[in-house]
Amino acid sequence: MSDLLTLTPEGLYCPAIKAHIDPIRPVERAIITHGHADHARSGHGSVLATPQTLDIMGLRYGTDFCGQPQSLNYGEQIDLSGIEISLHPAGHVLGSAQVLLSGEGGRTVVSGDYKRQSDPTCSAFELITCDTFVTEATFGLPVFRHPPALKELQKLLTSLRLFPDKTHLVGAYALGKAQRVIGELRAAGYDRTIYLHGALVALTTYYEEQGIMLGPVEPAAKRGKELAGEIVLCPPGQLADRWARRFGDAVTVMASGWMRVRARARQSGAELPLIMSDHADWDDLCKTIIETQASQIWVTHGAEEALVHWCETNGRKARPLNMIGYDDGEEAEASETAVETG
Ligand SMILES: [Zn+2]
Ligand SMILES: [Zn+2]
Repeated sequence: MSDLLTLTPEGLYCPAIKAHIDPIRPVERAIITHGHADHARSGHGSVLATPQTLDIMGLRYGTDFCGQPQSLNYGEQIDLSGIEISLHPAGHVLGSAQVLLSGEGGRTVVSGDYKRQSDPTCSAFELITCDTFVTEATFGLPVFRHPPALKELQKLLTSLRLFPDKTHLVGAYALGKAQRVIGELRAAGYDRTIYLHGALVALTTYYEEQGIMLGPVEPAAKRGKELAGEIVLCPPGQLADRWARRFGDAVTVMASGWMRVRARARQSGAELPLIMSDHADWDDLCKTIIETQASQIWVTHGAEEALVHWCETNGRKARPLNMIGYDDGEEAEASETAVETG
């Protein structure tokens, strides 16, 4: 495929350094782009990742999640068998990284999951020019356009003004989305205490420890109707759960890129769908591919064929990787929170 990367049943593999990137099964040496469950699995021999991704894996799987963790800060470089490896912000969640591999065969970037929209809770995506760019395609169809997050959250703030006696229950994934919703609400000037379902507390506390300013945040704990008029965040699966009934006649809100699709919005059971995603939308996928100046594009999880077609009609070589084991982004994160809640 390229000199630097090939595909094995475990996932992307760099033979020169004998390392897999985000492998779906336990391997000897792994490089992990970020802490979401379909990318970061436990049981590898060694794991190279940003300090935050290692911390997040430790929080989720326990400190013995791998044999040998090795942390690499953004922009730092290590050499292995003539290949230079460095990690660069992907703008997806706290600690998320693109992996740059460079050697005689050229420069290859594996972007993991990424977004170009601003996010007050993680470092902004860094553009890296390269020869081969491996991109996700979670929202790789022209129908997917994510409006500015602040504009979407205004709908929630308007609803709070219209229904001041109702709890506003917001479904958001535990890693990244929940903290971003809080951060964006603060940016919009909302300064009241925001309450959390128990499954969101550990990661939110970790974000705060890392210096992300989230303002007053408290576990909802046993409280119910006394939170009338307040914002409570929970994993998406809890919106329709028995747990939600303690708040009486709450307004249910769901923040996800999939809320663009009416059927998905209906399926979520939320009365107020907000289009808010930690993945690049169609325009940003295309823009990023152009800006990397890469001549070869490899496309992973999502609408691979559509993006491959776009690349080809725009003069680039492209191939779908058809890798199994990666779910369509935010859906994967839904099932992982279900596990945490249990
Ligand atoms: Zn992810
Ligand atoms: Zn992903």
